[in-house]
Amino acid sequence: MFEIVIGLEIHIQLNTKTKIFCSCPTSFGEKANTNVCPVCLGLPGALPVLNKEAVKKAISFGHAINATVHKKSIFNRKNYFYPDLPKGYQISQFEIPIVEDGELYIDFKDGSRKRIGITRAHLEEDAGKNIHEDEYSKVDLNRAGTPLLEIVSEPDIRSIEEAILYLKKLHSIVRYLDISDANMQEGSFRCDVNVSIRPKGDKKLYTRVEIKNMNSFKFIQKALEYEIERQIEAWEDGVYDQEVYQETRLFDIVSGTTKSMRGKEDSAEYRYFPEPDLLPVILSEDMIEDGKKIPELPDQKKERFVKEFKLKEYDAAVITSSLSMANFFEEMVNEGATAKNSATWLSVELQGRLKNGFTIETSPVNAKKLASLVKRIEDGTISGKAAKDVLDYLMDNESNVDEVIDKLGLKQVSDDGALLEIIDKILSANVDKAEEYKNGKEKLLGFFVGQCMKASKGKANPAKINQLLKDRLSS
Ligand code: ADP
Ligand code: MG
Ligand code: ZN
Repeated sequence: MFEIVIGLEIHIQLNTKTKIFCSCPTSFGEKANTNVCPVCLGLPGALPVLNKEAVKKAISFGHAINATVHKKSIFNRKNYFYPDLPKGYQISQFEIPIVEDGELYIDFKDGSRKRIGITRAHLEEDAGKNIHEDEYSKVDLNRAGTPLLEIVSEPDIRSIEEAILYLKKLHSIVRYLDISDANMQEGSFRCDVNVSIRPKGDKKLYTRVEIKNMNSFKFIQKALEYEIERQIEAWEDGVYDQEVYQETRLFDIVSGTTKSMRGKEDSAEYRYFPEPDLLPVILSEDMIEDGKKIPELPDQKKERFVKEFKLKEYDAAVITSSLSMANFFEEMVNEGATAKNSATWLSVELQGRLKNGFTIETSPVNAKKLASLVKRIEDGTISGKAAKDVLDYLMDNESNVDEVIDKLGLKQVSDDGALLEIIDKILSANVDKAEEYKNGKEKLLGFFVGQCMKASKGKANPAKINQLLKDRLSS
């Protein structure tokens, strides 16, 4: 009945060494108010100077999303008061952003994809931080002036699933480009979520609500679930006009609800005007061309993995969703494991076992080791089931694959003589079933294989057992 309409505004912190308009370092975790200077403190008379690296990163982002990179863009003052904004205005871009009219594609499980338009991406400075303690509030300006790229999507997103896929895709593009560490916990990738509903088939946009400053996929999901439900209920109860109006809301983690924070400002209220202390940003042809030299991006890598390694579209999308995972996969294949098994053992088995803050980069089992485990399955030394035990062991203990196979006694029996001994024992204990099989009840093969595996305590090579059983039963 209802259609969901979502548009996302994402702020990423660019990983430049210094701030956007001064030479203070952007490093964090330092003592409060130590990485500051007259410019980022907003002292009168201090003049901002634009950081070229921040501009370069914005340009490469523009190329990565197939957007227009404007040769000329300008900075504006966005006026508002807040204690963590000493100048009384934020330097941002308004009427001419550096990047406009781009796109990215999200991939669904069934292999289909959808285009999401990106309205614009503009450069701006971050504010400081207010810290509220007992009866005092403190201001730390170390973060003030950190370069941000704000990326605004078109209202093209139609479900929570699509919103998460969009966020993840953008996250991976930014990481591939190495323009931000995009660490969500540390706030270097944060999101304002705009959401509205409308009767299915209706083309006009209804009133949107903005949920500010979300920095976890899980909370974005929960906030959207709650907010969509709230709007639908208001509609069904006939109080949509009273309860859904343009406003900014905050997600409350404890109650799982969104709460009104303030009425939404109109852009007119910010009294935007061109920043008089900065010249327009004019990009040289060289800078624009240089910006085109970007690394292979997730979509291209995905296509290459499909072609080169014959992975399924969706599996390739999963593997290439993060650069570290893609590199891990390629290293496994280079070590001689098959692509199909490498993909599964990496994205299912290893991923599923990474806990306690371990990531692909810090995994106790590296690509080489996981490849040698996969190769031991592929050469018939151990079964897939035994390999899981080996992996469990290696996640907790420093050792190598062959040592663990020996230690845990997991080597498969592939020797014909030993296997035939087992087979003959099972067949003579089940003479009538063997007779039934010979009379056409071929389903019984599974029964015999199961019995043999059991008799071997799981160590018989199942493929060999299958083959030898068939031979025996047809002789
Ligand atoms: P502002 O800068 O005031 O937040 P914008 O017009 O730039 O406003 O839009 C911000 C975001 O809201 C964009 O991502 C846009 O796609 C989204 N948006 C606009 N209208 C709607 C709507 N009716 N429903 C959901 N999202 C919307
Ligand atoms: Mg906004
Ligand atoms: Zn400074």
